[in-house]
This record gives sequence, structure tokens and C-alpha cells, in this order.
Amino acid sequence: MNRLQGKVAIVTGAGRGIGRAIADGFVREGATTIATGRSMSDTDSGQTISRRLDVADEAHWERVVDETICRHGRIDILVNNAGIIAYETLHELTMAAWEEVIATNQTGTWLGMRAVVPHMIEQGGGSIVNVSSIWGSAAVAGAHAYHATKGAVRNMSKSAAITYAKNNIRVNSVHPGFVGTPLTDAQDAQVNEFVLSRTPMGRAGAPEEIAHGVVFLASDESSFMTGSELVIDGGYLAQ
Ligand code: NAP
Repeated sequence: MNRLQGKVAIVTGAGRGIGRAIADGFVREGATTIATGRSMSDTDSGQTISRRLDVADEAHWERVVDETICRHGRIDILVNNAGIIAYETLHELTMAAWEEVIATNQTGTWLGMRAVVPHMIEQGGGSIVNVSSIWGSAAVAGAHAYHATKGAVRNMSKSAAITYAKNNIRVNSVHPGFVGTPLTDAQDAQVNEFVLSRTPMGRAGAPEEIAHGVVFLASDESSFMTGSELVIDGGYLAQ
């Protein structure tokens, strides 16, 4: 409790799955939390402020960040969690599918960092957590665009970490393995069995198990960590 007391946080893709668990964890730890999502409506409930934000839309970022600064005076934490997947191999991908995945996972992460960094510089620091994947550093067949974006998020995080270390802005990436969420629930059962059969712990992670790691990276407990990769994957990448 109170590990994020007094902090103001923005979380993307917070309507369900891992993003919702992160937003709930932030509220439990005392943060004023702007929980955003593409299909969320604008409501306020205690410490949770819900706002519609399509991460690929510059105007949405401007609106949410401007309002947060107006109301709360600062942004201490940004979690770029929103993400989508396309399963096609590279020769099957259409331009539209490629561009949608890039726009959400990669451009959305850049737009989010670009929107908050000037405020974090001005206030003297902040913590950014970008949600990548085990598929940001390892690969399976197919899902070419997804792999491209998750690798990009991994290295964009390191680039931002190096650039803004002098401004006391920490940027780290989180790399979940297989987690039970609406995203994986909707996947082909064979895809899920394949990944689970290769996960040493032999089970899916829970969204809360990812949220615990994100709370740590967002909090001052990780004050000497930047540019690092927090892998939470039941042992997948250790093989
Ligand atoms: P999910 O259940 O599909 O939830 C994703 C959330 O992102 C949804 O609320 C969705 O909103 C939102 N979203 C999608 N496009 C958006 C956009 N353009 N703007 C704003 N919000 C958008 O997925 P999840 O499994 O929780 O995944 C969350 C993150 O973890 C993703 O980045 C994913 O790549 C990553 N990840 C997941 C796993 C896993 O096994 N689940 C593993 C590794 C990494 P709508 O409801 O409006 O579509």
C-alpha cells in the first residue's frame, strides 16, 4: 500500500486485460490514475479517472495530457500498454494490417512518450514503462508485424532511457510471456497450446503478475533502474 502515494499516472489500454490490472494496482498503491482506452468513456470515480484515448491519435494525447496537467499539475508515470496483434506471416500481411499494428504498438508508444516527456523534464523527473513482450527479443513463426513492433518498443525504451537519464526520467520495458487476457482468450487454441507447452512453469500468467512488476518500475523502489527489461514470463526466455 502507498508505494505510489501522491503520484499521477497515465495508463493506456486500461479497459481490460493487463492494462486494467495495472490501473487497479496503481490505485491500490495510492496513485491518481488516468485509466485510458480506445473505447472508454470519460468518467471520474474516486482516484480513477477514465478517459477515451486512442494511442495512435495525436489529438487524443494532447487532450488527455493537457487536462491532466491542468487538473493535477504533473505526470509522474506513463505506462504504454495498449497493443494489438496480427498473426499473418510477412508475405500474407496487407499494408492496412501492417500499418494498424505499427500505429498502435509502436507509434502509440512514441506519441505517449513525446506527450509526457516535456512535462517530466520541467517537473524534474518521471517513470515511463513500455509494455513489450517476450516477442520483443525472441520469435515464433508468423505475427510478423507484432514482432516488429515489440522489438521496436524494447529498443525505443533504451534510446529514451539514455536520452533522458540526465533529466531523471527513467524508461524501462516489461516483457510478459503468455498471460490470460481477452487477447489470448481470442487466439487460436493451437497457438496458445504451443506457447504454454514451451513455458517452463507450464501455466499462463495472470494480469496481476505483470501489474506487480509495473508497479515496481513505476515506483521509487526502482530508482536506479533505467533502460532495463523486466521479463515476467514463467521462464520462457531463460531457455
Ligand atoms: P487485450 O486484452 O487485448 O487488451 C488490450 C487493450 O488495449 C484493450 O483494452 C484495447 O482497447 C486497448 N487498445 C487497443 N488498441 C488501442 C488503441 N489504438 N488505443 C488505445 N487502446 C487500445 O490485451 P492484453 O493481453 O491485456 O495486452 C496488453 C499489452 O500486453 C499489449 O501491449 C500486448 O501486446 C502485451 N502483451 C500481452 C501478452 C499476453 O499474453 N496477453 C503477452 C505479452 C505482451 P479496446 O478494448 O478498445 O480494443
